Amino acid sequence: MEKVFYVTTPIYYVNAEPHLGHAYTTVVADFLARWHRLDGYRTFFLTGTDEHGETVYRAAERAGEDPKAFVDRVSRRFKRAWDLLGIAYDDFIRTTEERHKKVVELVLKKVYEAGDIYYGEYEGLYCVSCERFYTEKELVEGLCPIHGRPVERRREGNYFFRMEKYRPWLQEYIQENPDLIRPEGYRNEVLAMLSEPIGDLSISRPRSRVPWGIPLPWDENHVTYVWFDALLNYVSALGYPEGEAYRTFWPHAWHLIGKDILKPHAVFWPTMLKAAGIPMYRHLNVGGFLLGPDGRKMSKTLGNVVDPFALLEKYGRDALRYYLLREIPYGQDTPVSEEASGPGMRPTWPTIWGTWCSGPGPCSSASPRAASPSPWRGRNWPRGRGLRGGSGLWCGSSSSTWPSRRPWPTSRP
Ligand SMILES: [Zn+2]
Repeated sequence: MEKVFYVTTPIYYVNAEPHLGHAYTTVVADFLARWHRLDGYRTFFLTGTDEHGETVYRAAERAGEDPKAFVDRVSRRFKRAWDLLGIAYDDFIRTTEERHKKVVELVLKKVYEAGDIYYGEYEGLYCVSCERFYTEKELVEGLCPIHGRPVERRREGNYFFRMEKYRPWLQEYIQENPDLIRPEGYRNEVLAMLSEPIGDLSISRPRSRVPWGIPLPWDENHVTYVWFDALLNYVSALGYPEGEAYRTFWPHAWHLIGKDILKPHAVFWPTMLKAAGIPMYRHLNVGGFLLGPDGRKMSKTLGNVVDPFALLEKYGRDALRYYLLREIPYGQDTPVSEEASGPGMRPTWPTIWGTWCSGPGPCSSASPRAASPSPWRGRNWPRGRGLRGGSGLWCGSSSSTWPSRRPWPTSRP
């Protein structure tokens, strides 16, 4: 059988500049792509930007810019960040591209015509920054669990996707495919979500309120709401439904996400795929939060964002990449700051820079589009805490004993 590997990051939302959390997921994806290329896999690595919705529309308004000019500018910032970090992606999808819109319209139409989309009225508690409704239970002290901000009660006409209908199927699928969602803790979390009714999913917003989106093919007074637009990037970039890349890579898809978007990827997306007659992805890999120095998730709203550009400038690309891969256990919440990382960041980075990454190596390559030849091949990989993660899922050595720190020699052999 041909060895094939398809890895994706989330498409990043352009309401904010790239931060270290984005950089982390993207570096892990890049590492996995490079590793598989070196191992002879036919590999496709996708990243991109999510560019529609109310938050972006309002951010553009505040900046006094046309939405398209705004998303062009912020999307370029992401591309620039990934170039600086040596990210060798194969494609960068933007949801404002024609190739993406066509697929969203196609899939919506298919699901609508099958009878799985209906019109109804929605009322709920809404966080404008998250661009989603929350249930009472999900709020923390009555505030948005991500932003710590008040939510507003909203009521409006929406189209809904019959998601609840697919809940029994999804439960069974996850039970039959124990490695679908990993680390395991997140799989259990998803099974718990599915043990109760999940309801139907609101998939549109009135165009009068949110003009910045893809109009529904059967009702131009409504635009597609975030998830039915954004999640489809994983197949639109491959040229679904006829593209050769789609046929080759889709069955091997590994999604990498942060845990804040677990439910959309583990519940919304599989049921959407099922309704549209698209086969399921292969793995959903869930990373924890990188916490700011204050112990809360980095977010622009909280103002505790660690700027990857500043770190890049100070320590260099390879040191930053190595730090992210080594010091952050995959799947776990990890506080990150230059000062607060114990024996980590400050003393470690220059050491790593001098010891391992001054020449060509797997850390990155001179050309961001080419996998570098690896002097490490056939030798032991340097092993840190990072990709061992909570579950040992990627390097195939979960049972071995890993030295906690500095297992590597102090100079190049
Ligand atoms: Zn929020």
